Amino acid sequence: MTRTADLIADVAAVLLSEDQIQEKVAELGRRISADYAGRELTLVSVLKGSLPFMADLMRAITIPVQIDLMEVSSYGGTATESSGLVRILKDLSSSIDGHHVLIVEDIIDTGLTLNYLVRYLRGKNPASLRICTLLDKPARRLVEIPIDYRGFEIPDQFVIGYGLDYGERYRNLRFVGVLRPEVYTSPA
Ligand code: 5GP
Repeated sequence: MTRTADLIADVAAVLLSEDQIQEKVAELGRRISADYAGRELTLVSVLKGSLPFMADLMRAITIPVQIDLMEVSSYGGTATESSGLVRILKDLSSSIDGHHVLIVEDIIDTGLTLNYLVRYLRGKNPASLRICTLLDKPARRLVEIPIDYRGFEIPDQFVIGYGLDYGERYRNLRFVGVLRPEVYTSPA
């Protein structure tokens, strides 16, 4: 059985502490609440990685919000690389026609996943469509993505924690960290 302590032992460095993340989420919540004041906002998050961020961000927002969840998988890539070929595993539950929509993402790396998602959601006729991401890794961007709300810009490193996984593990860590290289190389 793997305990949280074992997961933490796999971490080489903490990139963003729980306090840093929570402070940033509160700041984003304040900005979003002010920007959308007087309007109804629909938050659309992308499972599974964005789950903790979505849960914290929606509670940091003080205006009325609706939420919806999508799940996509990029296929043809590797455990740490996105391929840009996106499959929708779970679609929106309700129509976003005429809604002010804010996409809530965990991380933008190449931008291929979000590029697909933005085009897909634009086709659903929202009143407006903006992007909020906790983490931005601009070094590897392949397509330009207009980011309206950015938590942190991070270096070109594969990170885990606060929703982000490696082999479906580490999502439950409260911080964002970098794994020890042995974790990638040793068999599970
Ligand atoms: P993109 O299409 O922008 O290259 O990547 C989007 C998806 O790849 C993210 O939603 C995330 O699932 C995964 N991803 C990209 N970079 C990282 C990373 O550093 N760590 C983890 N765990 N996943 C990542």
